Amino acid sequence: MDKTETEYMIEVEDLVKRYGQKYAVDGISFKVKRGEVVGFLGPNGAGKSTTINVITGFLSSTSGRVLVEGHDVLDEPTAAKKLIGYLPEQPPLYLDMTVDEYLNFTYELKGCRYNRKKHLEEVCSVTKIADVRERLIKNLSKGYRQRVGIAQALVGNPPLIILDEPTVGLDPKQIIEVRSLIRALGENHTVLLSTHILSEVQTVCDRIVIINKGKIIADEKKEDIVRAAEDGRAYVAKICGPTREVTTCLRSRPGVIRVERSGERDGDAHSYVIESEPGTDVRKAIFFALAQNNWPLVGLEPVGEDLEDVFIKLVDRSDTKKPGKQNRKPVIDNSDIERKEG
Ligand code: ADP
Repeated sequence: MDKTETEYMIEVEDLVKRYGQKYAVDGISFKVKRGEVVGFLGPNGAGKSTTINVITGFLSSTSGRVLVEGHDVLDEPTAAKKLIGYLPEQPPLYLDMTVDEYLNFTYELKGCRYNRKKHLEEVCSVTKIADVRERLIKNLSKGYRQRVGIAQALVGNPPLIILDEPTVGLDPKQIIEVRSLIRALGENHTVLLSTHILSEVQTVCDRIVIINKGKIIADEKKEDIVRAAEDGRAYVAKICGPTREVTTCLRSRPGVIRVERSGERDGDAHSYVIESEPGTDVRKAIFFALAQNNWPLVGLEPVGEDLEDVFIKLVDRSDTKKPGKQNRKPVIDNSDIERKEG
């Protein structure tokens, strides 16, 4: 098959990176489809930068395989790297150059064959840095520098853009600007965005891969992660009726695991928090039980769980799991292969 026809922009298979005895990345696999904007999320030290450095060819893996549009980053590093625009956590900026000099330098380094003037104008326009092209990079604000870093990644128009913690150290206004730029990039590129900030992936990404201690603990659409991690759905019900009897009645319903009064009142209705077993919808049972007793139900609202809670829950859950070290034997051992840096 022609490699450019492959459905996946990134394929990571059983990737392991070990430093001495420490597994920075411990047998992870995930794929990114062409056109997707995927968030690579995890707490500090989870293994995000290590994974990204292997994908971008800056670091060799201990074992496993990474393909970029079908090209093995180890066997065909030049072909793979040509497809990637990369913004590392520390943007590789030359502070004594002007923005224009730097982008021209990048253009030459990447061996681009576009109409240079037009291409660089386009890149500057997308990243909104046209007004600072003549300025020295060292005199730019951090937000502008970050956009110059993204511009550098876009030179040569690579189909895959990889951004490692792109908003760290920016002020709130700059964060909003960089995020909206990332969203815009997603319209024409495949984007892998590494971050430890949940709201970043929440606003920008279609899918989230969550990594903790070198292992993938979730890989789903944003909405599915929220759904999958719910331990049991909870509702707030507003009910008119004698509180003790109402509580006892609801507690006896199948699928209901907890009923507590929240202490709030709405007219003559009392509020209750009702928690159900995972996968059980208890709303109809609640309604009929109350109706039989002539206790009006005047409100029933799910208690929303935001992504922050889900993320913390997933990370906590993976922390308490035993460190299973099955499948330790590398499938492909690359540890003795010399890799050119850069
Ligand atoms: P993240 O990007 O998610 O913050 P990293 O990929 O930087 O995480 O690091 C993953 C783990 O590997 C961390 O525990 C880190 O301390 C360790 N690590 C990273 N680089 C090295 C290195 N060069 N030598 C030893 N340990 C390292």
